[in-house]
Amino acid sequence: MESTTEKKVVEEILHSGGCHCGKVTWTALAPSTVTVVKCNCSICIAKQYSAVIIPKNKFNLVTGHDDVQIYSFNTGKAKHPFCTTCGVTSYYFPRSNPDGIGFMTYSVKSSSIKEIICKAFDGQNWEASFAEAKYFHEFSKE
Ligand SMILES: [Zn+2]
Repeated sequence: MESTTEKKVVEEILHSGGCHCGKVTWTALAPSTVTVVKCNCSICIAKQYSAVIIPKNKFNLVTGHDDVQIYSFNTGKAKHPFCTTCGVTSYYFPRSNPDGIGFMTYSVKSSSIKEIICKAFDGQNWEASFAEAKYFHEFSKE
């Protein structure tokens, strides 16, 4: 008899991506159908972020360790690295999931993303929205 309490196993594949000039490269383990939080906070709007947040241990920065500069503001909890040559932010450290990392769907070069599910998030009222958006807390959990 099948158990109904079993956790649904979603197959994960290795996405590879990086910045525009190619100095920053990485791999990220995630499903081929990814969920992106479309947030309207100041930086997500300014940079048009489209981030998939995953546990940190599923992200591997392959090259570019010394080619990024970190931008930070407000609470300073989120870190926004950008390539010092081409300026592209291809991944970031989210305030929402301190044990996670977000990679940008538009920086994936491996044509491995099959579908993007968007969830709207009111980042202009960050604290209240985050308290309500339970799904948002789980992205960095195994
Ligand atoms: Zn670059």
